[in-house]
Amino acid sequence: MTDLFRELIAPNGHKYIQPLGLFINNEFLESSDNGSFDAYNPADESIIAPVYAASEDDINTAVNAARKAFKDSSWSDLSPTARGNLMLKLSQLIEENAQTLATIETWNNGKPYSVSLQEDVPATAAVIKYYAGYADKIHGQVLGTGPAKHAYTIREPIGVYGQIIPWNYPLQMAGWKLGPALACGNTVILKAAEQTPLSILYMASLIKAAGFPPGVINIVNGHGPIAGAALAKHMGVDKIAFTGSTNTGKEIMKYASLNMKNITLETGGKSPLLVFDDAELDQAVKWAHGGAMWNNGQICTATSRIMVQEGIYDEFLEAFKARVEKMKVGDPFSEGVFQGPQVSKAQYDRVLSYIDIGTSEGATVLTGGEAIKTVNEGRGYFIAPTVFTNVSSTMRIYREEIFGPVAIVVKFRNEEDALQMANDSVYGLGAALFTRDLTRAHRVARKLEAGMVWINSSQDCDDQVPFGGVKQSGIGTELGESGLAAYCIVKAVHLNMSNRL
Ligand code: NAD
Repeated sequence: MTDLFRELIAPNGHKYIQPLGLFINNEFLESSDNGSFDAYNPADESIIAPVYAASEDDINTAVNAARKAFKDSSWSDLSPTARGNLMLKLSQLIEENAQTLATIETWNNGKPYSVSLQEDVPATAAVIKYYAGYADKIHGQVLGTGPAKHAYTIREPIGVYGQIIPWNYPLQMAGWKLGPALACGNTVILKAAEQTPLSILYMASLIKAAGFPPGVINIVNGHGPIAGAALAKHMGVDKIAFTGSTNTGKEIMKYASLNMKNITLETGGKSPLLVFDDAELDQAVKWAHGGAMWNNGQICTATSRIMVQEGIYDEFLEAFKARVEKMKVGDPFSEGVFQGPQVSKAQYDRVLSYIDIGTSEGATVLTGGEAIKTVNEGRGYFIAPTVFTNVSSTMRIYREEIFGPVAIVVKFRNEEDALQMANDSVYGLGAALFTRDLTRAHRVARKLEAGMVWINSSQDCDDQVPFGGVKQSGIGTELGESGLAAYCIVKAVHLNMSNRL
């Protein structure tokens, strides 16, 4: 590899300059060992461009840059309002470059272009803007400790942050992590997922243009077990915020223990969606479909375990099948496409293997159940949206996260039954329920073992509302005020007023 920038023309004809290096100290650099990997278009399996991959040495360089920037007066003495203004500038640049960012996101990830442009990019700009507003509203408390002393708290940045993100929402995940970290005055090394390095590298060029001091935000691509592990183990990193699989999350916990790093983990799920027999059926069908199939089914909170009360089971199933079959699967740059390819060959193989597992375990394929070879002359990782019925709670497709366009629909008798089935999981990320009975809605919401419950919707997300899981779905929350709290420490100060020894 020789070039650090390359002019590219995307399948939609959009031409732009793609950075390919490691972004450290506001410069794009080659990796120390010249290591690289290719970024792919999952819709036709072609190589888009190679990007540099960080070695352990490069992670050291990035951590040193972030440590220096954390103490440097250009960042540490910046007024909170000025810090917020830099973030607002970044948010504005993301909005101004929406077409380029959306093009890259779709090209490299496979999600429909309309979704990248109308949801992912605006949501990334919005979350940075949301946290920019907090930058000068982070303050401690004065505690009423009586006349003998004055006690107060200060909220300070934790220090240097390692942020490791997945490939399903590359830009949004970067925004969720950068927003609160910067608002609190931390410095950051963010590692994107190997599958989707490109949009975040383009965002790095906007970070520089926004005027952040060198070393405040460093963005490295690299392999999880090399660059990710080096970051999570690094003694110069004070906190790791991770989104990804539960197994990697457990590894990160071990690495973080080396210097007792603070951690936030957002990991896997197998979220239930309950449809009670008094639900507005049409709404339940639409949300159940989106909740399982949006983003090509690659959503950590996907409500892919659909549970329907027996009185309306048949009616629900018929309408759900019709809706699933109506949605267009195709090239993500084509008009009207609901579902593009899976992100990579590995994910494609994984999802197809789960479909085989479901069939061999004795479940019935209601619809789908196979790869689609009619798009892009048979190239690309397209899978027909798949629905299984006749699924028992011991089957792997009931218990394990598939992370693709695969849902199961099962029957329940009553509320107690529904709760037992919904909570029968090692995960506890999201849960949805559909009913017109207000009392039942709140009662069931309280009893669901999940970090988030949606009543009469699914996947509803708002920057103001905490997002996170319980059980093996994670530790801590992101978004909202509680997401901000995870990026600051509270220091207590005791001033002795009159207690003389
Ligand atoms: P993954 O855990 O393999 O990868 C996620 C990130 O971790 C990538 O950046 C990867 O490079 C890095 N990584 C991998 N091994 C590492 C290691 N040993 N040390 C440090 N970093 C390492 O996950 P994946 O399979 O690529 O992504 C899909 C998974 O992510 C799904 O299981 C999904 O549920 C989960 N996910 C969760 C959320 C959430 O908010 N809870 C959001 C998106 C995805």
